[in-house]
Amino acid sequence: MWDFATDAEFQTKLDWIDRFLIEEVEPLDVLFPSVSVVYDTQHARSRAILGPLQDKVREQGLWACHLDPHLGGQGYGQLKLALMNERLGRSLWAPTVFGTAAPDTGNAEILAMFGTPEQKARYLQPLLDGRIVSCFSMTEPQGGADPREFTTRAIRDGDRWLISGEKWYSSNARYASFILVLAVTDPDAPIQSRMSMFIVPKEAPGLEIIRNVPHMGERLELDEATEGYLRYNQVSVPLDHMLGAPGGGFAVAQARLGGGRIHHAMRTVGQCQRALDMMCERALSRRTQGTLLADKTTVQVMLADSQIELEQLRLLVMKTAWLIDHSHGDPRKARGHIAMVKVAMAKTYLEIVRRAIHLHGSLGATFETPLAYMWLNVPTMALADGPTEVHQITVARELLRAHKAAQTLFPSEHLPPKIAAARVRYAHLLED
Ligand SMILES: Cc1cc2nc3c(=O)[nH]c(=O)nc-3n(C[C@H](O)[C@H](O)[C@H](O)COP(=O)(O)OP(=O)(O)OC[C@H]3O[C@@H](n4cnc5c(N)ncnc54)[C@H](O)[C@@H]3O)c2cc1C
Repeated sequence: MWDFATDAEFQTKLDWIDRFLIEEVEPLDVLFPSVSVVYDTQHARSRAILGPLQDKVREQGLWACHLDPHLGGQGYGQLKLALMNERLGRSLWAPTVFGTAAPDTGNAEILAMFGTPEQKARYLQPLLDGRIVSCFSMTEPQGGADPREFTTRAIRDGDRWLISGEKWYSSNARYASFILVLAVTDPDAPIQSRMSMFIVPKEAPGLEIIRNVPHMGERLELDEATEGYLRYNQVSVPLDHMLGAPGGGFAVAQARLGGGRIHHAMRTVGQCQRALDMMCERALSRRTQGTLLADKTTVQVMLADSQIELEQLRLLVMKTAWLIDHSHGDPRKARGHIAMVKVAMAKTYLEIVRRAIHLHGSLGATFETPLAYMWLNVPTMALADGPTEVHQITVARELLRAHKAAQTLFPSEHLPPKIAAARVRYAHLLED
C-alpha cells in the first residue's frame, strides 16, 4: 500500500517544531548569521541563547533524532527525520539546536558503530550531549576526495601511530575537540584495505592548522573562515586511537557518507520551500504595470516549475528515506537512490533559489533577505560529499547493472520483428 499521510501524533511534534523555529530559533539566525559562530562552542553570547533552546528540544523528546534510542536519540527512522529536517533546514541554527548538525551527526554515527567503549565514553558522549563539536578530515589538497589519490600516511612507531600529510577542507577543525582522520596504513593494499581511520585529539602534538579557508560568504576580516587546511606533522596518537579495524578506514568513511548526503537533501528541501514561500508572497504583493506579479503568466510559470521540481525532489527524498528504513542496515539497497537525491537536490536548489532572487528584483540581489545566503550555498550542494558527476556515474552504473546488451543485431525494441511476432500471436483473430 502507498501511504503519504503523516501520523497524527508525530504531526503534533512537527507543529511544535514549526512554532518553535519561528518564535525562538529564527531570532538566533538573524542575530548570528555565521557558520563560524554556530560551531564555536566558546562563543558566550550565542551559547547563552542556545543552551536553553536545546533543553526545550530535549524536553520535547526531539533531541538527536538521527540516533537510535540506546545512543540518546528517538529511533524515529529516516522517514520521520526527513519530515523534521525539511523544517530544520530552513534555519542556519536549527540543526545545532536539535542536535542534528553535520558533520557531528556522521561522526557520532561512526563512533557509535565502530568505537570501543573507551572511545565512546571520551569522544562520543560529549558530542551527543552537545558539549563539543568534531571534524572529519578526509579530502586532500592534491587529490581531492578520491581515496586512490590519498597520500596522508600513518606509520606505527612502537605503541603510537605517527600521522603525516595534508588535509584540505576539514570543516570546523578550528572549533573541533577531535578530528577523525583517514590515513594510508598499507599503501600496497587494495583501496578497500589501504587506509585506517584515526581519532586525533585537538591537542595532539604536531597538528597544525595551516590556515582557515573561508568558503563563499565567510569574511576573512571577521575571522569567520571554517574550512581547515591542516598539516599533520608526525602527529602522534596512541594505538587505541584507531577507529575500527586496521585497514578498515574506507568502510568506516563510507558508513558516514550516505547518511550525510540524505540529511543534506532533507534540509535542502526546507531551504527550497522557504525560497518558494518567499516567491509566492512576493508575487502576491508586488504590483507593476497595472497588475500583481502573480497575474503575469511568466511569473506563474516560474512558480509552477518551482513547485513541481520541489515536489519531485521531496518525493525522491522521502522514498530514499523509506528505502534506508527498510534496508536492514544494508547500505547497497539505498545507494542508487542516495546518489539520485544528491544530484537532484543540487539542481533543484539552484533553479528555485535563482528564480526566487530574480522575482525579488534588486532586493533579491542584496543581503537583506535570506536568499543571498542561499545563493552562496548553491555551488556547495553540487560539490560537498562528492561532485555531481561522481553520483551520476553511480546512478548510471546501477541502472546499467539491471540491463543487458541486445541479443540480436537490432535493439530488442526494434519494431519489425515485434510486428511479425504479434501477427503470429493473434493470427487466428486477424484472419479474414
Ligand atoms: C562546504 C564543503 C564542506 C566540506 N567539508 C568537508 C569535510 O568536512 N571534510 C572533508 O574531508 N572534505 C570536505 N569537503 C570536501 C569535499 O568532499 C570535496 O570538495 C568534494 O568531494 C570534491 O572534491 P574536490 O573539491 O577536490 O573537487 P575535484 O575532485 O577536484 O572535482 C572538481 C570537478 O571535477 C569534476 N570531477 C571530479 N571527479 C569526477 C569524476 N569522477 N568524473 C567526472 N568528473 C569529475 C567535477 O566537475 C568536479 O566538480 C567539503 C566541501 C565543501 C564544498
